[in-house]
Amino acid sequence: MKSSLVVFFIGLSVVYWGQMIIPQPTKSYVPTKDIFEAKDGELAIWTEKMFLNEAEILAEQIKIHRDYIPKIHHWDGKSNVNGLLLKTNLDVVKDEGYHVNIQKNQVCISGRNPAGVLHGVFSYIQMIPIKKGPLDSGYSHDAWVIEDEPKFIHRGLLLDCGRHFMSVEKIKETLLTMALYKMNVFHWHLTEDQGWRIEIKKYPKLTSVGGYRLVNEQNYGGFYTQEQIRDIVSYANRLHIMVIPEIELPGHSVAAIASYPFLSCMGQQISVETDWGVFKDIYCAGNDKTIQFIKDVLDEVVSLFPAPYIHIGGDEAPKVRWENCTKCQKRIKDEHLKNEAELQTWMIEEVAKHLKSKGKDIIGWDEILEGGIPSGAVIQSWRGMQGGLEAAQHNHAVVMSPTSHCYLDYGLDGIDTKKVYQFDPIPSELTQDKHHFVLGAEGNMWTERAPENEVTGKIFPRLIALSEVLWSYPVQRDYPEFEARLKRSFSLLDKRKVKYGFMTTPVQFQTVIENENLWVQIQKENPDMNLFYTTTHFDSQSVEEVQDIVDVNGPIAIRRNSKINLQVGMKLGGSNQVNWMTRIFANHLALGKDILLNYTPSNAYLGGGLKGLVDGCLGGANFRDGNWQAVQGKDMEMVIDLGKIESITEVSTRWFHYANAWIFRPEDVSYFISIDGNNWKLLNTDSVGKRTHPSEPGEFAVSSKVLAEDYTAYGFFMGRYVKVQARSIGKCPDWHDAPGEPSWLFIDEIIVR
Ligand SMILES: [Zn+2]
Repeated sequence: MKSSLVVFFIGLSVVYWGQMIIPQPTKSYVPTKDIFEAKDGELAIWTEKMFLNEAEILAEQIKIHRDYIPKIHHWDGKSNVNGLLLKTNLDVVKDEGYHVNIQKNQVCISGRNPAGVLHGVFSYIQMIPIKKGPLDSGYSHDAWVIEDEPKFIHRGLLLDCGRHFMSVEKIKETLLTMALYKMNVFHWHLTEDQGWRIEIKKYPKLTSVGGYRLVNEQNYGGFYTQEQIRDIVSYANRLHIMVIPEIELPGHSVAAIASYPFLSCMGQQISVETDWGVFKDIYCAGNDKTIQFIKDVLDEVVSLFPAPYIHIGGDEAPKVRWENCTKCQKRIKDEHLKNEAELQTWMIEEVAKHLKSKGKDIIGWDEILEGGIPSGAVIQSWRGMQGGLEAAQHNHAVVMSPTSHCYLDYGLDGIDTKKVYQFDPIPSELTQDKHHFVLGAEGNMWTERAPENEVTGKIFPRLIALSEVLWSYPVQRDYPEFEARLKRSFSLLDKRKVKYGFMTTPVQFQTVIENENLWVQIQKENPDMNLFYTTTHFDSQSVEEVQDIVDVNGPIAIRRNSKINLQVGMKLGGSNQVNWMTRIFANHLALGKDILLNYTPSNAYLGGGLKGLVDGCLGGANFRDGNWQAVQGKDMEMVIDLGKIESITEVSTRWFHYANAWIFRPEDVSYFISIDGNNWKLLNTDSVGKRTHPSEPGEFAVSSKVLAEDYTAYGFFMGRYVKVQARSIGKCPDWHDAPGEPSWLFIDEIIVR
């Protein structure tokens, strides 16, 4: 037993330890023949004065692994000491660079400054052996020489504390985990339509009113006092993480307007928003009192955050209120502006000038490019890479966080760890001489669908992949090699009780259509995973449930309209997490049959491809789940050929409706049937439930169907071809936040019975 353990560790030292660290060292990593060993069961830390904070963090981290707190001693700059040594090294070129040099009786971590030394500390911590018990069980490990420095200087996480409030403890836990992987920017999203989270002494109602919203007739929310904010900033500062506050303007400001109605164009009392999306009540750009309010707020913000940047948002600001506001129109005239887009630029420049006078630069979302780039602004590109590219070409610094790779609120079926790992923050079109304008990137953790207890599982491990992209900028993205290191790294997270999530969708569903039956094969991503599933048939009168099938072997037959609840239990390292996944499948006459579409589905919403509407896979509550097919601004017509004349009792469709995302159920849906594909009989035109209305909340699927029993004495139609026509409502209606913009139609399946 003992000898096999030894072999195991030797194996590790030869094969793996060189590649243990995440992010991977960029300059050199050389294992040497030495073994470091702590003398006499005692491990001491020696440090220069300027690295005392880093020495304390090193001691705290060793305690997590070994239940032992090393003593910290002042180093005189000369003596050859036994133990761990932190010291200045001016051979290190970059501010955040470091060296780790391990010999028989000394581990020397060095850098130009404390940030570099801390990165060295966390590289070291990632490599020391994890054993139970204090040092009397021995403390020794292999020796290496590491030289390392980052590629990008801005390696961040955005955490939205507006949609869901995150406790101080959760934020600190997140910061510490970020530091473990050398992330150095915490972008703190503090104001939203659904909640204002930062105490402003001059405007107390921002938090007493704007900090809370009604959820199920209860107040939900919270805010950070200025004292708590100072505490978090100082905690982050200790970890060399810069905290950039985001105070959104002119949009996403409903909570502020609910607190002080004079801030808006209308001046009317509104409530803190309870739904998600984009809302048309924004700060009035024509009202001097509103501009003064923003400056007052920012003055207090500036006093709390030492970072050189303030993020001012600037995204998703509908201009409909400004178009109809006499004050805003007067401002456009007085300032000789062309339109509302330029009014937004004017407002942001006012704010930028004010912040500049306090020594701060602004960061804004790429929408602030629309009226011309405000001077000195850093652009954060989220609607793809285009905004960032454009800004960098105009010599503006940019931070990349495109929805394609950096949105951690998206499900793993859209963005998994591998996808994040493939991200390249430098657009291929950007010429070499402008590359330095790309400061780095951020993972964006929006929290509409992520309350505090779910947020860590969404951030990690995907953010760890981003950390390697930004620090190491691997030329060849060898994902299997990274994945192997990541799996070993989970033991660090387990030790710290960090509830990280899955690396990728834990199970894949494959459907096979055979002899007019639909079979679903469930494939596990990880063989150690325990799978359970339950099915619920929801088309019959009585709902039938089959439960607790311990494991899934072989395909599951879907003989009727069937809903499968699949419970996935998965062990990774020492953690034991259980996640639920729900997928809906339907078996019906048109399954796998030929279908002709008179439109081209949006590339982003193919819904399973050209046969996606007859594949048996229904969509879920997330319109991005890959099962919904969509077009924008157009009607839809589909013709299905059943291959032979069949008796049909029912044709049904399902439509997604989510006004805030510009997705509307159809104006109406018409169903036709034909024997020969030329002569069509209209069965019915269905108005798809009640009409849309401004007060209609939420997102959901609405069904439409035609039943033969309503039209024929026999209870069925005879036909070979089925045609469905859906009329789009066209443009978003007047009451909408984006009136006149082309609306979307979303459908998941045409079910023929
Ligand atoms: Zn106005």
